[in-house]
Amino acid sequence: MRIGALTKLLEVANAPYDRLADLKKKKRIIGSTLADVPEELIYAAGLHPFLILGTNNPIRYSAALLPDNSCSLARSNLELVVGYQGDFFDGFILSQVCDTTQHLCDIWKRKFSDHYFENFLAPRQVARPSARDWYAQECRRLRKELGKYTGKEITDDDLWRSFRIYNENRALLRKLYDIKREVPALMTNREFFDLVKATFFMDKEEHNRLLREVLDWAEQQKGHLQGQEGYFKLIIAGIVVEPPNIYDLIDEVKGNIVGDNLCSASRYIYHDVPLEGDPAEALAERHVRKPHFSPINSDVERIYKDLLELYREKGAETIFYIHIKYCESQDYDLPDIKVRMRQEGIPLLELETEYQTTHLAQMKTRLQAFCESVLGRM
Ligand code: SF4
Repeated sequence: MRIGALTKLLEVANAPYDRLADLKKKKRIIGSTLADVPEELIYAAGLHPFLILGTNNPIRYSAALLPDNSCSLARSNLELVVGYQGDFFDGFILSQVCDTTQHLCDIWKRKFSDHYFENFLAPRQVARPSARDWYAQECRRLRKELGKYTGKEITDDDLWRSFRIYNENRALLRKLYDIKREVPALMTNREFFDLVKATFFMDKEEHNRLLREVLDWAEQQKGHLQGQEGYFKLIIAGIVVEPPNIYDLIDEVKGNIVGDNLCSASRYIYHDVPLEGDPAEALAERHVRKPHFSPINSDVERIYKDLLELYREKGAETIFYIHIKYCESQDYDLPDIKVRMRQEGIPLLELETEYQTTHLAQMKTRLQAFCESVLGRM
């Protein structure tokens, strides 16, 4: 039986704009896009950071603004603000991580010329000695610009408080992930990843409060539930899992997601901001320690090395790779990943997805066939 805190988190994850209407009355809302915008700075400025994760609703406008071969994530992000929820946001901070996001930023800025707008330029080759300095400088610049926007300087105390709240949030999510991994009957994959998704939308302190309740409940429940029997362990790789019904398909075949490298999950919740030294350097330290992400990495071989490590460390049986249609970074990575996994004898299922493909019958058939023929699960 679900507890109230869990139900509330799932509601926010699935209908954030309806559920957070009250928040909009209290704070100005700053939308950001994946990946690596330091939300802690936005929070410290007294604004509400909201991660834009696209829409599954029909595309009506963005097809006319972006080239046909732009990725489904960029297209659906732009559609969300142009076609559906533009009024929800007071400003935007957009991250440039690839050619698509570079063009997207220009179009977005022109479309919302009356809104607060910043580009955030995270270094993409994080092993370079200059990367850490670059990221810290970007954080200092953003801190100053946010201060100008609100008319109030962001103090170091504001920042340390924000870092503590965000670190607590990540720690709570990691703890819950550990329990869910060991006791998959506690909650479905869809529930767990929705619960993570809610953190991108709602007030962090509120999310922390509800998460603490869910964790207490999970600790009480875990002893009464069966362990791993009947489930198979898998790793989910990619950037985002959309539409989220893909998690439902994995739940139906009793897959237990024991690890991931998603921007919308582990890349967000792993590694805290150190609580000492210069605040901008502390944010940069976290940035360079983050797990691999297709367009931002320290070594091209990490594309598959990190995945292999995760697969072995978690004792998984297979990897499901979620490929966003027309993602240029994933298009480059995928051939290498496939070759390496084949060499290692690791079963890998590639699932190509689009935000607007919500009828998943074909994917369901492929997934079931893979589980039967490759994993031997009937
Ligand atoms: S990294 Fe891929 S999914 Fe993300 S914006 Fe660029 S092309 Fe789209």
